[in-house]
Amino acid sequence: AAKESVHHTVQFYLDHVHQRVDAFRLEHDLQAALEKEEFVLEYQPRITVADGKVTGVEALVRWEHPERGRISPLEFIPIAEETGYILPLSSWIMEEAFSQWSKWKEDGMELQMAVNLSVRQIEEEQFIDRVEALLGKYQVPPASIEFEITESVLMYHLETSLQAVRELRRIGCRVALDDFGTGYSSLNYLKTIPADVVKIDRSFMKEIPDNAQDTAIVETIIRLASVLNMDVIAEGVETDRMLSFLKEQHCFGAQGYYISRPVPPQDIPELTQSTGQE
Ligand code: C2E
Ligand code: CA
Ligand code: CA
Ligand code: CA
Repeated sequence: AAKESVHHTVQFYLDHVHQRVDAFRLEHDLQAALEKEEFVLEYQPRITVADGKVTGVEALVRWEHPERGRISPLEFIPIAEETGYILPLSSWIMEEAFSQWSKWKEDGMELQMAVNLSVRQIEEEQFIDRVEALLGKYQVPPASIEFEITESVLMYHLETSLQAVRELRRIGCRVALDDFGTGYSSLNYLKTIPADVVKIDRSFMKEIPDNAQDTAIVETIIRLASVLNMDVIAEGVETDRMLSFLKEQHCFGAQGYYISRPVPPQDIPELTQSTGQE
């Protein structure tokens, strides 16, 4: 038994070392990944629930690692945030998304484009100037861009966030509260943050319409948003039943695997032409 336990301890230690080495390697590879053009953006369509039409997309970054294949943003965004590498990466993401917007516009599609924000990005003094410069460069109307800010960012950086939100809206962009309902004081953010859109976190959607509590919560968020004149978008819509529920509740928008997974940009035109879920 003692031998077993020593073995376990050693194994535990080795696992730990491997994880550290792993994170270190990723951090190292991240530095070169932009130049090597290993990042790509995918776009997840979202529909207006009332007519089932695709009216917008959310830009989501992916890392195509030459040896490891595709790495999830959940894995590399935190490392990029820690190392500060998120700054050049976020600039690239914005530029790529805006440039894609104008390509679609040339093809006659005017979509709402949602872009996720990182806290390091909004802390930068030149943030707003940069957004304005890029909007100008790609001739994107500010109202076509919706910046998503998560509740966890609001929770830890309320002052910075508030200022960024105000400035973004001053230049005409839209702002969405992302992962709504996951923070310590969601209702308070609804009151203090002048956002245009609320995105209901997908943890509330999982058991809709079977779970009575979740159902009541989602209904309430939808009504609250409507009273406050905000658009509400449900994330994580994975079934026909979820979408029917959202229709009954007059939810404004929906996004999730049932509608479409995130896809490469060339797949978007076809998805906007189909009549949706009718
Ligand atoms: P998020 O902003 O909440 O993005 C939605 C995530 O949910 C995406 O995962 C999407 O693929 C996934 N998703 C969409 N529909 C469904 C569904 O029906 N069911 C389930 N189970 N999942 C669904 P992804 O692309 O892995 O992104 C994860 C997170 O990484 C994002 O969460 C966001 O916080 C961060 N992220 C992604 N791209 C960017 C970016 O460009 N910049 C920044 N700062 N963060 C990003
Ligand atoms: Ca988001
Ligand atoms: Ca979200
Ligand atoms: Ca999330």
